[in-house]
Amino acid sequence: MNNHLIFQKIIRKEISSNIIYQDKIVTAFDDINPKAPIHILIVPNCFIKTANDINKKNKNVIAHMFYIAIQIAKEKKISEDGYKIIVNCNENGGQEIHYLHMHLLGGTKLKTLY
Ligand code: AMP
Repeated sequence: MNNHLIFQKIIRKEISSNIIYQDKIVTAFDDINPKAPIHILIVPNCFIKTANDINKKNKNVIAHMFYIAIQIAKEKKISEDGYKIIVNCNENGGQEIHYLHMHLLGGTKLKTLY
């Protein structure tokens, strides 16, 4: 499945999206089908397919994604009430786009899985 190209095109601004933040390492943009009042995706600019592909070389990218997600949560004023950061992996994890991404969800009381 080549659906990771969607995120590559968003990063390169080849298709329109509401980019919230971008630097040399990550891009954050509104989810097209939001599951909460705030639903932002944070993606690495370099292609990483799934969480299984995090390795010694790219693990600093993940720390930066997490850091930026939290800065955005603060900017969007959801950090005090709280939020979820979710990474889905492969079939059982419900990963539809095969390009590693964090979901930042907030702005309402979110259901928990456990
Ligand atoms: P996941 O199930 O974890 O792979 O999540 C993929 C997410 O990407 C879903 O929440 C989709 O709504 C979102 N999505 C798919 N296409 C786009 C797009 N073009 N722009 C923004 N978000 C998208």
